[in-house]
Amino acid sequence: VPLREKNLISHIRRSARRSKAVLTGIGDDCAVLRFPPGHELLVTTDFSIENIHFRRAWHPPELVGWRCLTRGLSDIAAMGGEPLAAFLSLAVASDVPQTWVNRFFNGLLTLANKFKVPLAGGDTAQSPSGIQADIVVVGSVPKGRAVLRSGAKAGDQIYVTGALGGAAATLGLLMEGKRVGKAYSPYLRPLPRLAIGQWLRRRAIPSAMIDLSDGLSTDLAHICQESHAGAEIDAAAIPRQRPARDKKPVALDLALNGGDDYELLFTSASSVPSKIAGVQVTRIGLITRSKDMRLLAADGQPRPFKAAGWEHFAQSS
Ligand SMILES: [Mg+2]
Repeated sequence: VPLREKNLISHIRRSARRSKAVLTGIGDDCAVLRFPPGHELLVTTDFSIENIHFRRAWHPPELVGWRCLTRGLSDIAAMGGEPLAAFLSLAVASDVPQTWVNRFFNGLLTLANKFKVPLAGGDTAQSPSGIQADIVVVGSVPKGRAVLRSGAKAGDQIYVTGALGGAAATLGLLMEGKRVGKAYSPYLRPLPRLAIGQWLRRRAIPSAMIDLSDGLSTDLAHICQESHAGAEIDAAAIPRQRPARDKKPVALDLALNGGDDYELLFTSASSVPSKIAGVQVTRIGLITRSKDMRLLAADGQPRPFKAAGWEHFAQSS
């Protein structure tokens, strides 16, 4: 067994031993999971590919590992679900040092431990070039209660958790080769909003929900498309990340279009508290009958609001 495979196996053995959901983890052909009765299964899979989702020169390996799992857990949060176990397939080229792989696992497993999600299986392979990681997270939600993207109705209010644009602002610093201070920790350690997603689902508050992985404009467009509705967003209401040292909030464009924030966006006809699980929740607009998206600028004039997708940095390579 090559060193890296042994390494993965030992990580999985240690991680899965502590979990009640995992009956059999590594050492058999499949993991055997215990599933809560009266629930439905949630499954999500997300790639983290070098030079698409991260750059080795810019992103510390711990961040890449942490964010790899965040992407999966955040999808479970967006359904109002509870994660049961994670599975990782990792392909690494021969020129990638073992320390990179170890630090990647440190980041991923620190987050896994924080949310008590066992890494219950995986596979490793030698990649012809670069690093490719695919995370699968399985979770559960009470039968018929998964919060979908398709339930938004005209007249529902639109809410977001936390503040937006911090990840894109931090990426800008990393690209310029600047040091990234603690103020930007939301990007370095984005936390999946699992507690908020479950809190909302238990009270049947959201009519639709999505996690902000690709940016507000793109992810809101997904809600509109699946719900056959439109949206009007108030630019002044959007909570922008405000790094502590720098009093100015990040640029509006970063909050509108920057990805990797992993906050939740949801719609609701019910009243919504301004804080859930210690996190600020902000009303940013309204679901409309017309199918397009509009942005109310500072002058009060509505402008067309288009999905300006977070292309990661595929195009800058
Ligand atoms: Mg998602």
